[in-house]
Amino acid sequence: MDKEAASKLREQLRPHLKDFLRNGNVDFYPPALTVCPHCGGQAGLNEDGTWLCPKLTGCGAGGDVVDYAMENLRMPENEAIRFLCRMFGIRITELDYVTSDEVMDMEFHDPVFVVDGLLSKGLTLFAGTSKIGKSWLALWLAHRISTGQSIWGFASRPCEVMYLCLEDTLDRLQRRLIEVTGGETGTIYLATDAEIMGNGLEEQLIGFLSTHPKVGIVIIDTLQKIRELGSEKAGYAGDYNAMTRLKGIADRFGVTLLAIHHTRKAKSNDPFQMVSGTTGLMGCADNTFVMLKDNRAENRTKLFGTGRDIRDMELSLCFQKNPMDWVLEDCTVGGFRPSRDRELSQIAAFILERQAWEGTATELAEALTAQDAEFDVKPNALVRILNANASLLAEHYGFQFSAKRVANTKLLRLTAGEAEAI
Ligand SMILES: [Zn+2]
Repeated sequence: MDKEAASKLREQLRPHLKDFLRNGNVDFYPPALTVCPHCGGQAGLNEDGTWLCPKLTGCGAGGDVVDYAMENLRMPENEAIRFLCRMFGIRITELDYVTSDEVMDMEFHDPVFVVDGLLSKGLTLFAGTSKIGKSWLALWLAHRISTGQSIWGFASRPCEVMYLCLEDTLDRLQRRLIEVTGGETGTIYLATDAEIMGNGLEEQLIGFLSTHPKVGIVIIDTLQKIRELGSEKAGYAGDYNAMTRLKGIADRFGVTLLAIHHTRKAKSNDPFQMVSGTTGLMGCADNTFVMLKDNRAENRTKLFGTGRDIRDMELSLCFQKNPMDWVLEDCTVGGFRPSRDRELSQIAAFILERQAWEGTATELAEALTAQDAEFDVKPNALVRILNANASLLAEHYGFQFSAKRVANTKLLRLTAGEAEAI
């Protein structure tokens, strides 16, 4: 959004400072005192919707509700404005666009994944046969993610978790939680009751996510429980529509929405044909997982994954009791796009030899061509390949890529995993 649009929205947001303090569980002493989000000192609230931490006793910081949210939630300006507009139902009337060049030059510090290569932001459908322990698995995932533990070798980023366990009771959950977590876990919010879609659920989710910005994933157990009665007859359009509404919420808040679902009874050679309902469910989901019983033994399952953000995969898992765990026994993860495969491994070889490298895109392109005369990527495109594959490079080759602007030059920095940052 441009400066003018941002300042218009700031005007509309200005009266909401006190609402934000109340909503956001910030220490707030009505009518005129709060905690300075910058130094933690005492800040005053003014009639015009601004706050000020006096220089005499504090740090001198001040501003409106956007400045407060930026400090308090550590968000850049535009992100804070969007977040607050969602919270207070203010429409952003100006279409928020960027140019294709800007997108290709962006560096995303805010990762696309909650669990690298496995659970991305957006809507994920997770279908499994009955009695396979889907609810146990959901709770186990919630626990691992809330504590930042990896899942089958895929690194996870710790965040808060909302678990809508709509087929459970709190006493059963208490026993499960203790078995799964051993008595200690991160922040997991649990709800055993919620409205259905089209009758309040969307509002409940939006209200919750607006006031809990640290929540990175919402698990819905099960999708059936939040659909309207008779929705099994809704057909393709009904399925697609329901998923679109869920995906809209996930995208709006930048969270993962994991919808647990069941499989149909009829067997099929294609695991994804086993998802109950029409293809409208999978068609709208960003990624889909199907968990089926492995015929080898009772406690073994196969997990198939496919989607827009993840590579096709097949995992063999073994369910263990004491301690409760889903152990990865075998896994096949599809290769990355062959067109870039070669360039990426050449870059990786270059960095691993040097451990660390810094310079401009032109210098990097020249050095790579010197290493292999057939390496033919223009400097600009090279930066874009690196940007687009940053998490993949870290995951596969263990090296970090970053870029910073010094004066008028963009300096790239590549560091092998083991090496100290320059
Ligand atoms: Zn202060």
